[in-house]
Amino acid sequence: MSVIGSLIFCTDCGNLLRESTGNADAILHCDVCGTRNKDTIPQTTVSESKPSAFPSALRAKRSAVQTLSAEDRKTEAIIDRTCNECGRKEMFYTTVQLRSADEGSTVFYRCVCGFKETSNN
Ligand SMILES: [Zn+2]
Ligand SMILES: [Zn+2]
Repeated sequence: MSVIGSLIFCTDCGNLLRESTGNADAILHCDVCGTRNKDTIPQTTVSESKPSAFPSALRAKRSAVQTLSAEDRKTEAIIDRTCNECGRKEMFYTTVQLRSADEGSTVFYRCVCGFKETSNN
């Protein structure tokens, strides 16, 4: 990868010096503040574009999973149902549509004591 054609800015005052010659040994004098700048592109400029330029498929998949689990929590509701374990009168429940619509849905009940129950409609 070449840096020729990239713009060089003064490291001290930010003044635009000139286009890079690609020669790292060249010294560019700033007209504004007199600072001697090396004819090199700062490494940060090169590495900055990498994360967005090459999005990770794994990362995209992971964020999709996180969105899904957040949706699951949102659909959990409280129902009047006695827990077989501790006798509590209310339980959390989540309805999940399994397979096709005509096969009905599965309801997952959860108690604060940790007891779990499944019911098929
Ligand atoms: Zn300068
Ligand atoms: Zn319970």
